[in-house]
Amino acid sequence: MVVKASVFRRFVFIILVFLKDHYKVMSKDKTNIPISYLKGVGAARAELLASELSLRRTKDLFTFFPNRYIDRTKFYQIKELREDTSDVQIMGVITSIRSVQQKRGSRLVAEFVDKTGTMQLVWFKGAKWIKDSLRANEPCVVFGRLTFFNGLKTMAHPEMEFLADYKKSLKESIQPIYPSTEKLTNKGVSNRVMVKIMQHLFQVHYQEIEESLNDELLAEHVLMSKKDALLNIHFPKNQGLLAKAKFRLKFEEFFFIQLQLLMTKQRRIENIKGYAFERVGEKFNFFYRNNLSFELTNAQKKVLKEIRKDLGSSLHMNRLLQGDVGSGKTIVGVLAMLMAIDNGFQAALIAPTEILATQHFTSVSSLLEGVGVKVTLLTGSTKVRARRIIHEELENGSLHILVGTHAILEDKVQFQNLGISIIDEQHRFGVAQRMKMWLKNKRPPHVLVMTATPIPRTLAMSVYGDLDVSVIDELPPGRKAVQTVHRYDKNRLRVFKFMKDEIEKGRQVYVVYPLIQESQVMDYKDLMDGYESISREFPLPKYKLSIVHGQMKPADKEFEMNRFVKGETQIMVATTVIEVGVNVPNASVMIIESSERFGLSQLHQLRGRVGRGAEQSYCILMSSFKLSKEAKTRIETMVTTTDGFEIAEVDLKLRGPGNIMGTQQSGVLNLKIGDLVKDGNLLQLARASATKLLKEDSNLLLEKNVRIAKAYREISEKTSIWSHIS
Ligand code: ADP
Ligand code: MG
Repeated sequence: MVVKASVFRRFVFIILVFLKDHYKVMSKDKTNIPISYLKGVGAARAELLASELSLRRTKDLFTFFPNRYIDRTKFYQIKELREDTSDVQIMGVITSIRSVQQKRGSRLVAEFVDKTGTMQLVWFKGAKWIKDSLRANEPCVVFGRLTFFNGLKTMAHPEMEFLADYKKSLKESIQPIYPSTEKLTNKGVSNRVMVKIMQHLFQVHYQEIEESLNDELLAEHVLMSKKDALLNIHFPKNQGLLAKAKFRLKFEEFFFIQLQLLMTKQRRIENIKGYAFERVGEKFNFFYRNNLSFELTNAQKKVLKEIRKDLGSSLHMNRLLQGDVGSGKTIVGVLAMLMAIDNGFQAALIAPTEILATQHFTSVSSLLEGVGVKVTLLTGSTKVRARRIIHEELENGSLHILVGTHAILEDKVQFQNLGISIIDEQHRFGVAQRMKMWLKNKRPPHVLVMTATPIPRTLAMSVYGDLDVSVIDELPPGRKAVQTVHRYDKNRLRVFKFMKDEIEKGRQVYVVYPLIQESQVMDYKDLMDGYESISREFPLPKYKLSIVHGQMKPADKEFEMNRFVKGETQIMVATTVIEVGVNVPNASVMIIESSERFGLSQLHQLRGRVGRGAEQSYCILMSSFKLSKEAKTRIETMVTTTDGFEIAEVDLKLRGPGNIMGTQQSGVLNLKIGDLVKDGNLLQLARASATKLLKEDSNLLLEKNVRIAKAYREISEKTSIWSHIS
């Protein structure tokens, strides 16, 4: 055989290139190689797996966990089957087979029984061929997804084997099912293929799996080794080992997140010095003695002490202040600002909406009357000339407190010496804005973020793990819990009657309509229809109405809002623009229209608008008759509790952590295996372990922590969760 020289050269070239690549891989890092080198993968599949699932290297594969398992070690009995059992394996016999005519062709239905009950097996396709393969009254094993069809337990297109064959086939194992995409399935990368790839991965690379925790942690929490955990998460021998593997891997995941958060915080404390407000001075004391018309609650005092401790040292404060609506966060913020001012600094108070900023401005100004503090408001609608004056006064230091919306964050706004930034209702802002406030000075100002939406503990620990958290867990005395009821739309007349009675007593009423971005036009129509029918029911001159919605000009909104605040109107018809912060103590009834369309935290916020005065307040949740299961749960929760933390927990369970305010930016939530809702205890355990470890070895330098340090470096390089903070 003669081979042309050119072909031969080409052949040699290809071999060389292949060897070179291979050599490079082998010499550089034998572990964590590109997955294209795995048997069963190849270039095309590697590209697919990378683009579809971000799987690039063997390490990615090791931590590409199954999202469920099919447990073929377990047999179900027909009577145990419930709507929520999905893939099941059952042993029984077929007792009868019949064809049922349908629009096109026919479907095959077989009755299948075991000792405990009856179900049906159905085939829509290949009926003829299947029929020939079925035998009545011979024991067989069926496996498949269970559905309920007209109330009948049904399995469509089951996998089937006669018991005799089944016993020979050694099917008895727990099979991993991997997350997949349509594209992968279409291109032939089925679950079977994935399992093959994984099997090969473990056969060849199992020994390369490195332990990432130290011996102490492994012993203390009786954790499986990393090798065993990874093997058993992919190929569990039994449910017990699978559970142990999950525990170990979840612990590890939480542990390294906490380590990152705690080290970030530690670095912040080391690197960023805060201004020390050493004096508690003249203005603070004057205000406390003369302007404070009530005794602070113990919770307020406790929180103030925590803030004072930060501000009094040269630590940099980065604190989240949680407190339910009406718990009195504003006054805490004002006192913190006075600490800054007494030490020659300026303060900023930022709110998410213009209405709220304006209200803060009004209440802070009146609280501080006679104290000798200059307060100004800056929002998007501040006129150019007023703005110029503000800029000037900020820079020459004669302006003490600037209240406003995110307009404050614009680059043109420069303070002479901003000492503290207070951000109200943080979920509208998020991390980026927080950072921006820091950059306003050579030294970052102290930051106090006030939020009325209670954040479940687990979430606070992972999303805000680098912040300090203070909680006002007590309402000012004399508050009566808002009574909450649910009413269907058809009972509207009774609700109108109730409104009239309350107005008769001198109270004011909110009626709120949902405003949801996608259907603004419809929502607007709902609001206008509602407004009209209320106007008819509550005619002038006896009744006066205000209306506020997002399409109004800010000045008009404010005008209407003010009429209600001053008590000139008795009913405020509004969209959710009033959601946050508005304070009208005389308003005692909150009616929420289409309440089934609101989220729990929004409902809670809205309800917080009433119950601010001395009178008994009410919240009425209106809804149509047809409610989804979730909507029912939300409404029931609102009716049964006023505890914001309890509500937040339910919200977390219903919506999952990714949808809770402010968490989207965090990145902490891309958990591979841990579950913030279900694994709260494990998270706390991991946090405690991380805290303890850092106390002993704050920079991970000890010999015994080498493995942790290495794993930490790798994770940090990949995620660098909060690295932009420091
Ligand atoms: P939130 O925490 O929702 O921002 P606010 O700061 O607006 O609550 O306070 C709600 C109301 O409670 C205000 O009218 C405020 O003056 C009043 N308040 C705050 N603290 C106390 C207290 N310790 N005793 C009595 N009333 C208080
Ligand atoms: Mg408030």
